[in-house]
Amino acid sequence: MIQRGTYQVVPMKGKGLGAIATTFIKQGSVIVDSDPGLLRVMIREMQVFDQQHLDLDRRSECYFDLRATYFQPMLEEQLLLLPQGLQEAIMGLHDRAGEASKSVAGIFFTNAIATEGDDFVLCHMVGRFNSSCQQNAVYEWCDREASASVRAVWDIAKGEEICIFYGSTGDLLKPRRERQEFLRYWGFTCACSSCMDPLSDERRARILEIKRAFEDENVIKIPIIQRYELAKEQLRLYQKERVFFSGYFQALTNCVQLSQSAHEEPQERRHLAELAVHHVKVFFPQNDHLLKECHKALGLTSAEPNLA
Ligand SMILES: [Zn+2]
Repeated sequence: MIQRGTYQVVPMKGKGLGAIATTFIKQGSVIVDSDPGLLRVMIREMQVFDQQHLDLDRRSECYFDLRATYFQPMLEEQLLLLPQGLQEAIMGLHDRAGEASKSVAGIFFTNAIATEGDDFVLCHMVGRFNSSCQQNAVYEWCDREASASVRAVWDIAKGEEICIFYGSTGDLLKPRRERQEFLRYWGFTCACSSCMDPLSDERRARILEIKRAFEDENVIKIPIIQRYELAKEQLRLYQKERVFFSGYFQALTNCVQLSQSAHEEPQERRHLAELAVHHVKVFFPQNDHLLKECHKALGLTSAEPNLA
């Protein structure tokens, strides 16, 4: 489902501009579609640059400065080919180097996203979304359409800021201190609800701990009731922390599967299965097998096949 015109870019206290939902946005809705890649640096061009600077730490300021200087002429040339309005939209985006030293290359490397082939592209609408460790949206790049989209991963209330996460999904469950360290690249200190909550680290660490336990082959040695309790605890923590990636759906399917073997109340089993069906319909609509499995779990009779 595409929900256009559902947000507004407004000044945000302490962090420049941000995108605020102007209406309730349903989980899975596309908030931005067909946001074209306006500027591009090919992966092979990046490799040429990197080859010339093998001695530099790729996370150092020196590397970032040299990279911006190197790509500035090429990006400026690309920028000048765009209509005036788009040029202005791009130059209005954040540059990690700060307002005073803004450059098209600085803006590019602050906001660029990776394509399927690992090129870097700049999309002027995606660049407007701030980062949060409790992201409620995600961007997706599509090579075939040469454009990006942004969609809601949780329900978003009217007035709530729409945020993506600038790190990789693997970074999401890391402790606050480590997240802050790599987010520093973008020149800000994250003050999202998780970063401000002193108990968040503990919850995320516990999610990871349970995740590792389930990935271990010895998991089958844990009594089924105890395993189910662990799965439920993990699911609650994912929801509390609003972490959608890094294993949320796996936690949900663990709950659905174990709820049967653990002889959970039919009402609760139905609730879990319905949540899984909804998730698959919204996020994996092409996956018939997965949907069938979830539907099977919804046929809650005593003779139902065991998903686990
Ligand atoms: Zn944060």
